[in-house]
Amino acid sequence: MIHSSASGAPRRCLPLLLALLLLLSACGPSNPPAETGAPARSDAPVTTQAPGRTDPCTLPATDAPATETPGTTAPEPLEDESWKLLLVNASHPLPEDFSVTLKPLRNGHQVDERIYPELQQMFDDARAQGIYPFINESFRSAQRQQEILDKYIANYRATGLSQAEAEAKALELVALPGTSEHQLGLALDLIAEFDADSTATWNWLKENCWRYGFILRYPGDKTAITGITNEPWHFRYVGKEAAKEITEQGLCLEEYLEQKEHS
Ligand SMILES: [Zn+2]
Repeated sequence: MIHSSASGAPRRCLPLLLALLLLLSACGPSNPPAETGAPARSDAPVTTQAPGRTDPCTLPATDAPATETPGTTAPEPLEDESWKLLLVNASHPLPEDFSVTLKPLRNGHQVDERIYPELQQMFDDARAQGIYPFINESFRSAQRQQEILDKYIANYRATGLSQAEAEAKALELVALPGTSEHQLGLALDLIAEFDADSTATWNWLKENCWRYGFILRYPGDKTAITGITNEPWHFRYVGKEAAKEITEQGLCLEEYLEQKEHS
């Protein structure tokens, strides 16, 4: 009854309306992929944690990898696994012919595309346990590394140090371009989302990151070997097998590689 009076006049418009509805529904699938097939488990924490915030620089939780089966994306022959253990430090600069295929994340961050599924899984599992990691640094180009170094040098110069003194001080904290793991696309500096205290996040990651192929790269008790001071935020992908062995044996990457070489 309620509808009869209202539907009288516009009845002639019905076919038009139906056509319009069909057209609208046909447009549906062309929406951004982020809105289709979004895994609810990843989405919920991001939106419920702080609705007013802008894009929280986490992995694009709505991207497809959560639904992928690990290992089905890029099965690699064993001889190609060496990329996971590539050592980059002050005495082992990046190979000149080094190149990496990057996977863009939110807020402009990028990582080696091969580590993306496990990184996504680590973030999903952390969130499920009330831990919300935030990517503060990821892949850096040599140019970006130089910019960071220059900024530190300028800051030290501003305190009255000479150029040589400022450079020496800056290099204590920032790696020379070509010697930073961040140039591999396998290293991440992780903190807690939303300015929260990062301690719980670091503890969770330290405890669990090996399950996803990551290690805490610069522990405080390995500074003499790594040459880098304690960095509780810096995690490096080495693959699940190495990450498990390194963690179980309490080694740093340099020690592990040396042990591997002599075994
Ligand atoms: Zn770092």
